[in-house]
Amino acid sequence: MGKLVLGCIADDFTGATDLANNLVRAGMRVVQAIGVPATPLDADVDAVVVALKSRTIAPAEAIAQSLDALRWLQAQGAQQIYFKYCSTFDSTAQGNIGPVTEALMEALKCDFTIATPAFPDNKRTVFKGYLFAGDVLLNESGMQNHPLTPMTDANLVRVLQAQCTRKVGLIDHTVVARGDAAITERIAQLKSEGISIAIVDAVSNDDLLRLGPAIAKMPLVTAGSGVAIGLPANFGLSPSSQASALPAASGLRAVVSGSCSLATNRQVLDFIQRGGAALAIDPLRIAAGVDVAAEALAWAAPLVGKQPVLVYSTAEAGAVKSVQGKLGVEEAGAMVERAIAAIARGLVDLGVRQLVVAGGETSGACVQALGIAQMQIGPQIDPGVPWCHARAEAAQGAGVHIALKSGNFGGDDFFTKAFTVLA
Ligand code: ADP
Repeated sequence: MGKLVLGCIADDFTGATDLANNLVRAGMRVVQAIGVPATPLDADVDAVVVALKSRTIAPAEAIAQSLDALRWLQAQGAQQIYFKYCSTFDSTAQGNIGPVTEALMEALKCDFTIATPAFPDNKRTVFKGYLFAGDVLLNESGMQNHPLTPMTDANLVRVLQAQCTRKVGLIDHTVVARGDAAITERIAQLKSEGISIAIVDAVSNDDLLRLGPAIAKMPLVTAGSGVAIGLPANFGLSPSSQASALPAASGLRAVVSGSCSLATNRQVLDFIQRGGAALAIDPLRIAAGVDVAAEALAWAAPLVGKQPVLVYSTAEAGAVKSVQGKLGVEEAGAMVERAIAAIARGLVDLGVRQLVVAGGETSGACVQALGIAQMQIGPQIDPGVPWCHARAEAAQGAGVHIALKSGNFGGDDFFTKAFTVLA
């Protein structure tokens, strides 16, 4: 093997999938690892994305985990490192974007890097150093009220400088628009001014594609998932269907859903309206001590051989509030996650090998319950949600196709469309 060129460190799980998906679409074969692997890479891929959960933990811990990921990626031969964070630059005054960036620079002896969360496909653009989410500045987008990482300033030079000891500057749109040579010249100028990290403007995919060649030689790139579209070309790779090729799918099909987002509610309804076999599980019965997972599996067993089944706790906002009022927000969430994870595991025992999971936290719980450590990224079902292929302990090490859909992703027909993409 030994062809790994790009090593990525993502600060959360669904963000890692988002980045992996962009790399695959730009021509790379990609594996996503859940946490830092304990063993060497055993897949023939161009990039690995190590998914951490380091976005909101203490900066020192985020640094330690990121450096651990870096060492593993270097041991696998990664030539360039990509530190991936959220396209809304989710961070606090303490970090962790700044401290992790500086620690990685130090470890890589890297004297200059870029920082840009721009992801135009997802309406995240950066202009004059200011981050826009859709048509408004970041601090007017709702992100100013985020419970963990309130973003009250859209000026990323200021935001990142507050988290860094190194000097932060800007490569603005007038430079980016002129392309590779102008960007390279601007980087030299910034370095001569003692600046070692630059926020980069980008308002379109063309900007990101122009940025690509200018950062080809940087040991470290820090960004949202958008910058990924310009990198595979640096390694001679271009979009191809081979990048997303997975082993042929077989086995039974099922969906489990613990997401209560508006989109997921529509997807559950759509699946039922098409005549799909679906079973709702009730958090209050879990709380009352009923073995809801066993009930669901007994329901699924005679059906799943004939058609895809859906087991869901998905409910509308009013019902969720009422359950949370009775059980507590965290307790209700954890209880439902445990039940759905047990159901996912039981479905795999029944022979399910094509599994869709809806919900970010729910996905984390299911991946853990199935004993999945690495996933090969395959074809996209809807923007941001690819099919993946993984060896699962729950399947005695056999391969399982799994799609992890976070919150508001996917069209109404997602639960039906997913299986047609694989077929
Ligand atoms: P999303 O990606 O839509 O945010 P998550 O899985 O991350 O979905 O989060 C949904 C949370 O809501 C999980 O903790 C889940 O266990 C919990 N949950 C799911 N169904 C219900 C329900 N009916 N009542 C209360 N909480 C629920």
